[in-house]
Amino acid sequence: MSRTVYVNGKYLPEEEAMISVFDRGFLMADGVYEVTTVLDGKLIDFDGHAARLERSLGELDMAAPCDRATLLAIHRELVARNAVTEGLVYLQVTRGAADRDFAYPEGVAPSLVMFTQAKSLIDSKAAKTGMKVISVPDIRWARRDIKTVQLLAPSMAKMAAKAAGADDAWLVEDGQVTEGSSNNAYIVTADGTLVTRDLSNRILHGITRAAVLRFAREAGIKVEERAFTIEEAKVAREAFITSASTFVMPVVEIDGARLGDGAPGPVATRLREIYIEESRKAAV
Ligand code: PLP
Repeated sequence: MSRTVYVNGKYLPEEEAMISVFDRGFLMADGVYEVTTVLDGKLIDFDGHAARLERSLGELDMAAPCDRATLLAIHRELVARNAVTEGLVYLQVTRGAADRDFAYPEGVAPSLVMFTQAKSLIDSKAAKTGMKVISVPDIRWARRDIKTVQLLAPSMAKMAAKAAGADDAWLVEDGQVTEGSSNNAYIVTADGTLVTRDLSNRILHGITRAAVLRFAREAGIKVEERAFTIEEAKVAREAFITSASTFVMPVVEIDGARLGDGAPGPVATRLREIYIEESRKAAV
């Protein structure tokens, strides 16, 4: 069955949804995006995603296509029209269509495209067995705090992981892990401290990261926001990643080194449970 997608004010069958070949998102990756999770037909952390979108747009001097309330209404309408109970809403704003030029065009309306992906997220094999990651150099640009659609570097990292028989890649810059290809990266040290990279323009400020760190602190876990190396990660007690679509996902192998007994650790498992439970309660 064809999905209903949203394009610039219209709800259309996906086959009829069109964007100009002159759209700057297509020509120059001049666009930003958000992915919001749907559980029980409701949106997880909508306000967090909307706030990050507003920040991304502001950093790029890009006009907002509509206000936050309208955005929420479109999210809900798409979820309802596509009868999504579990999955994602993808949202993309681009600077719009204009003659190709490096300078930003003036007076051009931004494009807004949104679609849903129905997907089983809670019942995940990786959550039970854990993921294997490899490290690769972080070759991305220096404004990773802006959630732009230029995703070729993370795609290449993901392909390197696949080629190595792993599930994902952790990105390394100046000898230290920044984040995963499409997620934030964490380790639990021998004394039980949860360590994840501090916020800066070197990483995306994950909405799931913010929630998970809050839940970890509330659960009495010591949290350190600082850089760590792959060497430190390889001898960690546990590791995991977070993102909107994976929640908290345990990592059991890094560059071939098995962590602990090779099974998902208790901190990752507990934080996954808390995150899912609390997110469900707060969903809108
Ligand atoms: N880091 C990167 C590079 C990402 O692409 C993502 C998600 O797409 C994240 C972190 C996790 O962010 P969030 O928790 O908001 O999904």
